Amino acid sequence: MSEACIFCKIIDREIPAKIEYEDEQVIVFYDIAPKAPLHLLIVPKAHIPTIMDVSDSQMNMVAHMHKVAQILYTRLELAGMRLVNNCNELGGQEVFHLHYHLLGWKLEV
Ligand code: AMP
Ligand code: ZN
Repeated sequence: MSEACIFCKIIDREIPAKIEYEDEQVIVFYDIAPKAPLHLLIVPKAHIPTIMDVSDSQMNMVAHMHKVAQILYTRLELAGMRLVNNCNELGGQEVFHLHYHLLGWKLEV
């Protein structure tokens, strides 16, 4: 937990978010400024600043973030998805708590 971190505050329910999924390792909530029809953030409960700070022993948790993307793809009946990680300021990262953007599209009906 990092006290100034907005995602830690969401994990601790200090600020609200629309939560779509939660388990022991991760929380998933809707991005406040969506850039696709469906825009979720897959966030580990551990405060890890960037993907470059993930230790070897934490790599199973990163694999679990991908498993959660699979679960949500099925649950939300998506037909296409982009999983995006921005790393450091030059890579477009604004919130320094590791996350994947899950951008999703459904089939038009
Ligand atoms: P990044 O640029 O990869 O660090 O992405 C950070 C994302 O967090 C942006 O897409 C923001 O719209 C999103 N964001 C920032 N604050 C909140 C919040 N309180 N609730 C949900 N999403 C947020
Ligand atoms: Zn944090």
